[in-house]
Amino acid sequence: MMRRIIVSTIGNVTLQSDENGLVTLQCDRCKSKFKMDCEYLNDTSDTEICCPICGIANSIDTFWPEEAVEAASKVAMMEVEELFANAFKGLNSKHIKIKQKSVNTVDRNIIFKNKDYDMEEVIVYCCEKKIALMPNDISAGYYCPYCGRIVK
Ligand SMILES: [Zn+2]
Ligand SMILES: [Zn+2]
Repeated sequence: MMRRIIVSTIGNVTLQSDENGLVTLQCDRCKSKFKMDCEYLNDTSDTEICCPICGIANSIDTFWPEEAVEAASKVAMMEVEELFANAFKGLNSKHIKIKQKSVNTVDRNIIFKNKDYDMEEVIVYCCEKKIALMPNDISAGYYCPYCGRIVK
């Protein structure tokens, strides 16, 4: 079941879950990638989640994957450019000539298809939910991203 989580208010940057309803996130601190239940994230958008690798809790918007952050800032930049272009439109007269390069309209709907990072799915029994981690991280031990308990 494909689900989506909208992670950005700038435009409409969306992360898409994999076929098991898990969506890829990335910790801002340790850069580890992991997957969490998309439905849970949609329901609790203002709650903190816990990085399964470094164990530090933070708000969900610090867990966007790098590529989503990049796209969101690109959209923001283009929106500013568009704004400027529109503001200068009225200034063209016989005295003032402003050359205007054409500004592409911004595509505000960016959807990140879930990439396969070779993660392994595990169930965290404290919360009875699925997560996915890189195999190395599983063997090294990890925290439950839902409640922050040490799983292993
Ligand atoms: Zn981390
Ligand atoms: Zn838990």
